Amino acid sequence: MATQSTSIDITRNLEDVRQRIVAAAQRAQRQPAEITLVAVSKTKPFTAIQTAYAAGQRDFGENRFEELWEKAKQAQQLGLQDIRWHMIGTIQSRKTDQAIGPITLIHSVDRLKIAQHLSRDAMAAHCVLSILLEVNVSGEASKHGFSPEELRQLAPEVTRLPGVRLQGLMTMAPLVETAEAARPIFRALRQLRDQLRADGVSGQTTEQPLQLSMGMTNDFEIAIEEGATIVRVGSAIFGERDYA
Ligand SMILES: *Cc1c(COP(=O)(O)O)cnc(C)c1O
Repeated sequence: MATQSTSIDITRNLEDVRQRIVAAAQRAQRQPAEITLVAVSKTKPFTAIQTAYAAGQRDFGENRFEELWEKAKQAQQLGLQDIRWHMIGTIQSRKTDQAIGPITLIHSVDRLKIAQHLSRDAMAAHCVLSILLEVNVSGEASKHGFSPEELRQLAPEVTRLPGVRLQGLMTMAPLVETAEAARPIFRALRQLRDQLRADGVSGQTTEQPLQLSMGMTNDFEIAIEEGATIVRVGSAIFGERDYA
């Protein structure tokens, strides 16, 4: 099939997204290097990852463990050792053991029970998992995550769990007409981060604030203006998805 044109598109799309990240960072007087681009490759074939890898991309996001491990295995076999995998999809409490392995960051810890199960499984496997807590800032019933109140109450508890390391917060903006309409959500997540910091909950060191994983294809530039340190971009790089 049209591998040639596909590979050209991914390379060009990636370049375009990178330039937009730099421009958004500059508008906000931030260093572009503070922002990690996670290329969301869910539902896309491994060849898409290879093309992005060849263009220098190293962070990839998947939303199902099965697909993540399948792709990680292929990467291993092809000698792409330095890919950093990000789990961004909802995790079922009885499947937390599937998180054990070389995942760089789990973005989607959406309730205390998941953090507790990950802690238990990490302890059993003698490893430490880096996690973000997903926050439902907008309060939409369809969205997963801690409410802002729950977050403030439970984040200190999460930091005391062995086997997991709290690295930051993640949110998904509601589907809105314009990216600008998502700005208050991103700003609210940043303010929550600052509030946690004032409560004594920070990153690995007090110097390092918690990460903010926010912004997708439709709104990543606004998220960067509001302080995103990780953006998760799929369709702008790999094209539209047929499903999921
Ligand atoms: C699919 C997905 C993305 C990427 O979405 P795009 O709109 O294609 O950029 C980002 N974050 C999460 C949690 C996702 O599930």
